Amino acid sequence: MTEKKLVTEAKPSRAIKTGDLDPKFKYEISKVPGAENIKLCFQCGTCTADCPIARFSDIYRPRKLMRMTQLGMKDRVLSSEALWLCAACFTCVDHCPQGVEIASVLRALRNMAVKDGIMPAVFRELTSNIMKTGYAYRIPELRLKKRGEKGLPPLPKANVEDVAKLFDIMAVSKASKREDK
Ligand code: SF4
Ligand code: SF4
Repeated sequence: MTEKKLVTEAKPSRAIKTGDLDPKFKYEISKVPGAENIKLCFQCGTCTADCPIARFSDIYRPRKLMRMTQLGMKDRVLSSEALWLCAACFTCVDHCPQGVEIASVLRALRNMAVKDGIMPAVFRELTSNIMKTGYAYRIPELRLKKRGEKGLPPLPKANVEDVAKLFDIMAVSKASKREDK
């Protein structure tokens, strides 16, 4: 797959062409632990109805993401910005009548997107911070100094070399260096 940018799609921007579909995609996803039941989704919409994020977003519809995955819309689903809005609260998983672990399917899709070098800017920044310091948030020097003045112990230092190795294995390093947004 060629590198892609994230796409925000409130409404479909182009027609679905059968030639763009990957019929093996749902089988690929269903091999990921937790995502095995993706094929059982019968589009009842309960996940979207109960999702706290869908309530406040025009683009986030977990039911739609499940359907796109079933249909093999690999390129579109992996480049969808909506994929990154899931809060992993598992409300949908508790309510799905078909036992689909929607949150796990979405995790599998995000991991696949990262392997293809697709990651929103905000996650790239967090990743970059973790790689440099071991912390998702860059703690300002002033705050560290104040900790010392208050008699608090220094914060534990992360082994950033091990973090870098882990991120290389997970292909996170590659995605975090992209400048696509
Ligand atoms: S609740 Fe389950 S079966 Fe219903 S649309 Fe969502 S994933 Fe599919
Ligand atoms: S796990 Fe994600 S998709 Fe499911 S209800 Fe929570 S935010 Fe919505």
